[in-house]
Amino acid sequence: MTTGAKEPSWLCAACGIALERGMVEIAYMGSAFPVELQRCPRCGIVYIPEELALTRMAEAEKILEDK
Ligand SMILES: [Zn+2]
Repeated sequence: MTTGAKEPSWLCAACGIALERGMVEIAYMGSAFPVELQRCPRCGIVYIPEELALTRMAEAEKILEDK
């Protein structure tokens, strides 16, 4: 039995240490969008789940189109 309250912890493939959550700015079509992502505290690599990336990019496109 698991509570499901805990998020799965990711490991950096290069360093083998747990990633930490942090705000990262993603540049897209000349604009920057802050997104909370898993990031390696040692080498700074950011892991963007494909699903999240697609969702955020779709939101960004909507924002840009409204301008
Ligand atoms: Zn790393």
